[in-house]
Amino acid sequence: MIAAACNFNQLIRDFIDVSKDGYAIFCPDDKLLFANYVFLDAFCATQESTEYWTFDQLVTHAYKIKRGVNIETERLEDWLSYVHSVRRKRAFRIFEVDLVDGRWMLFSEQLLESGELLVQIKDISKQKLTEITLKDSVTKLKKLALTDSLTNLANRRAFVDAVETELARCQRNDLSATMLVIDLDYFKKINDTYGHLAGDEVLVHTAQILRRATRQYDIIGRLGGEEFAVFMTDTDASSSFEIAERIRQTIQATPTTVDDTPVAVTTSIGISIQTSPSTFENLFNDADEALYHAKSLGRNQTVASNEI
Ligand code: GH3
Ligand code: MG
Ligand code: MG
Repeated sequence: MIAAACNFNQLIRDFIDVSKDGYAIFCPDDKLLFANYVFLDAFCATQESTEYWTFDQLVTHAYKIKRGVNIETERLEDWLSYVHSVRRKRAFRIFEVDLVDGRWMLFSEQLLESGELLVQIKDISKQKLTEITLKDSVTKLKKLALTDSLTNLANRRAFVDAVETELARCQRNDLSATMLVIDLDYFKKINDTYGHLAGDEVLVHTAQILRRATRQYDIIGRLGGEEFAVFMTDTDASSSFEIAERIRQTIQATPTTVDDTPVAVTTSIGISIQTSPSTFENLFNDADEALYHAKSLGRNQTVASNEI
C-alpha cells in the first residue's frame, strides 16, 4: 500500500465538487448530509440555507417552482407516497428521470445497512436523444412497411394482419365478419386515356371515399393495383350491403378532378358475411368470388356471396 501524503477525504470531496455527475448522501431520516452542485441543480436547490434539505423538501421545492426534476402529477402527496413505497426498499436501484428543461438523468441509489443512501446522477440526455431518435425511426419504418405510400391505407400485409387479429376477436366474442372487395372498373382505360398520374389520383380519391364511408374501427386496405378491401365486424347483411352500395354510388357520383378535368370511374364490389367467421382466406375468397360475379354481370354493381 502506498502511503498517502495528502488528505484522502479532502481529495474525494474536491473530486466530487468538480465532477460532472451529481452526488448526494441522505441520512437514515432522509435529511441531506451532503450534495454537490450538480445534484442540487437537478432540484433547482442550493445549499446556502442553514437547514439541510430533506428528500421530500427537495422534491416539493422543485415541484412548486416547476423546475428541476419533472414531476407530472396533480397531487404531489400521491407521487411522494409512491416514491416512498419504492425508495430505500432495495440495496440498489437505478432509474431514469427527466427534467423540466428536457434533460434526462440516470439516478442510481445505493443503500447502506446503516441507512445512509448514496445517490449518484448522470446526465444521459445525449444517449436518450439517440434512443428517442432510433425509436422514432423504427416506428416510421414500421409504418412505411405497413402503409401503401400512394393512398396511406394499410397495404396488403398490414390489412391481412389486422383482419386476422380482428377475426380472432370475432371468434372469441361470437361476432359476425364482413369483407368487401372493391375493384375499379376498366381502370386500365383510365390510365390509357388520362395517363398514369391521373390514374394515381383516382386511386387516392377512392381511398378518401372509403375512409369517409366507413367507421373508425373498420379496416381498409389497398390490396394492390386498383383493388381495395374493407373489413367490418358486427355488421348485419343489410347494413353491409348498404355500406357497399353507398361506396359504389359515391365513387360513381364524384369523379376525380385532374387538371380541371373530371375523371369518372365506377366500381364493382363483392361482399362476404360470415356469422361464424373462420379464416381470412375463406372470408376473402367468398368476397372475391362475389366480385368476379359482379364483373361478369356487367360491372358497376354490388354482389353478395351465397352465404348471405
Ligand atoms: P376490370 O374492370 O376487369 O377490373 O378491368 P381493369 O382495367 O380495371 O383491370 P385490369 O386488371 O385489366 O387493369 C388494372 C390496371 O390497373 C392495370 C394497371 O396498369 C393499373 N394499375 C395498377 N396499379 C396502379 C397504380 O398504382 N397506379 C395506376 N395509375 N395504375 C395502376
Ligand atoms: Mg379493375
Ligand atoms: Mg383488379
